[in-house]
Amino acid sequence: MECYCNVALPVPLRTTFTYAVPEQLCAEVQPGSRVLVPFRKKTMVGVVVEITGTVPQGTQIRGIQKVLDVVPALTPKLLELGHWIANYYLAPIGEVFRAMLPPVTDISRKRVMVLTEAGRALAEKLKLGTTLTDLASAEVDFLQRVLGNKRGLTFGTGGKVGIAAESLQKLQKRGYLEIRDTVQGRKRKMQRVVAWKGNSGTEEKNDGKEQRNGHGSNEQNGGVNPPLHGAKLREKEERIRGLLETERGPLAMPQLLKLAQVSRALIERMLRDGLLESWEEGIDPVEDPFDSGYTPPAHMLNETQESAFKAIRARFELAAFGVQLLHGVTGSGKTEVYLRSVQDTLARGKTAIILVPEIALTLWVGRQCRAWFGARFEGVAVLHSALSDVERAREWWRVRNGEARVVVGTRSAIFAPLDNLGLVIVDEEQESSYKQEETPRYHGRDVAIVRAKLENALALLGSATPSLETYHHAMNGKYELLTMASRVENRNLAAVEIVDMRTDFQQTQKVNPISQTLHVGITECLEFHTQALVLINRRGYSWSVLCRSCGASVQCENCSISMTYHKSRNRLECHYCGSIKAVPKVCPKCDSKYVHFFGEGSEHLEERLRKEFPGTRIARLDRDTARTKQQYQETLGAFASGALDILVGTQMLAKGHDFQRVTLVGVVYADSALSLPDFRAAERTFQLLTQVAGRAGRGELPGRVLIQTYYPEHYAVQDAVRQDYVSFYEREVHFRRMMMYPPFTSLANVIVRDTNLEKAIRWSRKLSEYFAPQDGKSARILGPASAPLARLKKEHRYQFLLKSPKKSALTKILSGTLAFCEANEIPQTAVLVDMDPLTLL
Ligand code: ADP
Ligand code: ZN
Ligand code: ZN
Repeated sequence: MECYCNVALPVPLRTTFTYAVPEQLCAEVQPGSRVLVPFRKKTMVGVVVEITGTVPQGTQIRGIQKVLDVVPALTPKLLELGHWIANYYLAPIGEVFRAMLPPVTDISRKRVMVLTEAGRALAEKLKLGTTLTDLASAEVDFLQRVLGNKRGLTFGTGGKVGIAAESLQKLQKRGYLEIRDTVQGRKRKMQRVVAWKGNSGTEEKNDGKEQRNGHGSNEQNGGVNPPLHGAKLREKEERIRGLLETERGPLAMPQLLKLAQVSRALIERMLRDGLLESWEEGIDPVEDPFDSGYTPPAHMLNETQESAFKAIRARFELAAFGVQLLHGVTGSGKTEVYLRSVQDTLARGKTAIILVPEIALTLWVGRQCRAWFGARFEGVAVLHSALSDVERAREWWRVRNGEARVVVGTRSAIFAPLDNLGLVIVDEEQESSYKQEETPRYHGRDVAIVRAKLENALALLGSATPSLETYHHAMNGKYELLTMASRVENRNLAAVEIVDMRTDFQQTQKVNPISQTLHVGITECLEFHTQALVLINRRGYSWSVLCRSCGASVQCENCSISMTYHKSRNRLECHYCGSIKAVPKVCPKCDSKYVHFFGEGSEHLEERLRKEFPGTRIARLDRDTARTKQQYQETLGAFASGALDILVGTQMLAKGHDFQRVTLVGVVYADSALSLPDFRAAERTFQLLTQVAGRAGRGELPGRVLIQTYYPEHYAVQDAVRQDYVSFYEREVHFRRMMMYPPFTSLANVIVRDTNLEKAIRWSRKLSEYFAPQDGKSARILGPASAPLARLKKEHRYQFLLKSPKKSALTKILSGTLAFCEANEIPQTAVLVDMDPLTLL
């Protein structure tokens, strides 16, 4: 008998769809399975939400084509979580599942043999020469072979494995071997890795060089001036040797070329001459190149850390849901506490997720996790959006198959399909990157708490500057507060000083984002061979292009925002929609020649620093220079290894990194966010300044932070200077209470949008017929008003703001909104609902 199932599809519709399941597939289909189904004229991948016996009347029911998973992709708990998200954030269930699942890729699954823990232990022992076993020598050899295949031994054609079937069964029965499906990328990308091979003594080396110069015809400026050429070569070779032998170890070819700044021809020649050696290696996306040989510093927890950890462990003992806030100043050693907690979780047979706010941090934390847990449990997975689809799917299935028990990742890693979850850590819980700004508009931290609740697990939120909401919950007892008020080894917090830019201008009569104080500070850094970080809030060269004659600024054609000048690319860019424009020579409005570039961004600042500090090793880190994970990692790696003196960049620099030799942090335009029409402006400024101040003086050297500002009186700046979170919290919470903002009220932002202005107006008027009568009852409803960003990506935008002390009241009104839209033919795509918005722009 055939059966039926309801399937959620990734379409912007709030319903599920019923399909018939052919009899032979009935046993395979389960809630959570992904299935291939016909939808309109296409074939789509959906998720089975439930199996139903009842046949819907009237409509013609189509059949599913294929069941994609043997094991359902989504666990029952994750299905439940998906439903919660769909309800709370008013997102179509199919789109929620799409966000939760790995991309559907062209991945093939292979049957492989892997060792169990017992099998691995035995194989390791046998390797050391133990002979105390009743296994035949062929079986012993076979175990060794499996041990040597990290990803499992693949079955050959016809299922051959090079061992008798009985032996295979025997090993399985004894619990040494397991057979399972693994996901593998179709092709493993290969890359060439180069290592230093020399050396023969110095003399021989010199001989070698002479000889090489003799037939150096394929070198760039081949042999024009042999002696000079020779000297240059020696220097380059030296650089390559330094990199490969001492600084980094073996490097992939592209990385080597970039870091050493040499030609490929030179490397090839050094290879031929036997100074270097190279081989092909599979690119393993999740292993980072600094991984090998990395041993984490094994610290004893200090007293402060110990008492925080004890409180966490005490919570584990309860084996019940709970939320703890670990409020620890920057450099108090939170990571160490996280890792111990994960260790404890694993020891209890449970699994853990660590969420970090950005991709770069997954690498740092992932590396530490692998060093701590990788060997023993064979299982740390890293999940983030910069992985390719295949890589992500592979990691995801590793988790689903129970091969990884610790997951490190960004926002969406909260959906990692771990069984038996015991702990979810959200590092830097206040970060706005946890909020997804597209459907489903969920907040990763809040979902983490809900997931922990569903799984009876502990949610551990960590921060030096908790969000107002979180700290408020800690104050009223909803969360348990753990405080670490001092830095490890009693290191001092950096000394923070304000540089009043008004005074600087009076003294110098020049507008220079690098104040005299900052200039002197950097000079001192360079003298003492320590490092400086310079933070600026904007990328690009100039924030906007203004006409001095008529005052017009160049606006984006799609958005109501001015365009940013990028000098190296010689064009204007919109940071909201990505559109570009040529740099105008004359004013587009009045034709005057007085086009003026206004407001300096990171690109400009880098240029200034290079001018003011010639010969210094400077790099810039922002979204323009760090487009890929590799670039990002390389720059951070170079800075961490001391190959750079100054690193300039946007808030990417402020977060989490642990640089030991930074003694100076300069913040340029520290207050630029304060003028934004946003109730979180002060909170953001305080957080940013405190975070960035936390980057200085982390090692043994004391740190100094210079905050350049035009508003030194503002409490966000003042409290950041004192690094006094509690004082800031008290002032800010007072303001929020007065103004009825979160955490004292819940907010929802409803945006009505369309490329056609008339339609946008018509629909927002229509919608206000629904909202207006409800205003003042269980919620305040403001609007429709033109949104602060009145136009974005070609769409005109109107806004309603809903405020209520009760979340449930908002949810009720909002679900009514959707029904109202449907009844009044307002397209679902025109109405955007943002529950708990982070920004109202
Ligand atoms: P946070 O995340 O709180 O800013 P980190 O976890 O990055 O701080 O730790 C800061 C530094 O202190 C790291 O270099 C870490 O290795 C070191 N550290 C952590 N715990 C200890 C300890 N008990 N003793 C000495 N150093 C420690
Ligand atoms: Zn003009
Ligand atoms: Zn734009």
